[in-house]
Amino acid sequence: MAAPQHVRAAPLARALRATATATATATASVPVPVPVPAGIKSQGTSRRALLGLSEPQLRQLAIDLGQQSYRGKQLHDLLYKSRAKQIQEFNHVPKAFREALLGAGWSVGRSPVHHAVTASDGTTKILLKLEDNRLIETVGIPVDDDNKGSSRLTACVSSQVGCPLRCSFCATGKGGFARNLQPHEIVEQVLAIEETFKHRVTNVVFMGMGEPMMNLKSVLEAHQCFNKELKIGQRMMTISTVGVPNTIKMLASHKLQSTLAVSNT
Ligand code: SF4
Repeated sequence: MAAPQHVRAAPLARALRATATATATATASVPVPVPVPAGIKSQGTSRRALLGLSEPQLRQLAIDLGQQSYRGKQLHDLLYKSRAKQIQEFNHVPKAFREALLGAGWSVGRSPVHHAVTASDGTTKILLKLEDNRLIETVGIPVDDDNKGSSRLTACVSSQVGCPLRCSFCATGKGGFARNLQPHEIVEQVLAIEETFKHRVTNVVFMGMGEPMMNLKSVLEAHQCFNKELKIGQRMMTISTVGVPNTIKMLASHKLQSTLAVSNT
């Protein structure tokens, strides 16, 4: 997992103005990506994942498969409320619809927990085993706010299997890079943490394995799913980067209300 030595954070709305400075800094400090050997860029899954899709997308899918639109709303509830892990568990929809989904190559897109370990302060590291047997880690960090009588649960999520950068302080970079994560493989990390803690995730930090800015498409789709489907406020999310050149401006153009944290190597 990334363990930045120094972190400078700024709302993404300000990041565009800061691009010139940040990019200049990044150019000097970002490690050179390790060349990716041919043949290991596969996205790792053979089926299309329902997890990560929005309610309008699921309604359209239902229509495309010959069902009425409200069946898409049922899929949405099964994914994000009931937390079904397999299409075979979709008992609320007709068997013919389940078979049509399976026949069209869809899966829920959930991975089993391979291992979990909890530290004395409650921080829990979870290893998920992906469809291609690769392991990724996600970390849940609980914090009790005694003054307010409330508690927060922060999910530190991975965006890649391994990492193509080689930051001197980070073990992930030393292990090399395998592939980018797909959006559902980022989303399921938050679900796994919520199920482990039996508590909703209140904050998300894109700071696990991998450099989020090098898998920006999946990160942005997962960010949208966290916000729209799991109701995690944009201001409760942080994207942490070591500062990959030319990506901060691209991220800022999406006008997210989240925080950008730039860590110095
Ligand atoms: S960018 Fe990659 S190598 Fe650098 S801290 Fe993050 S995970 Fe580690």
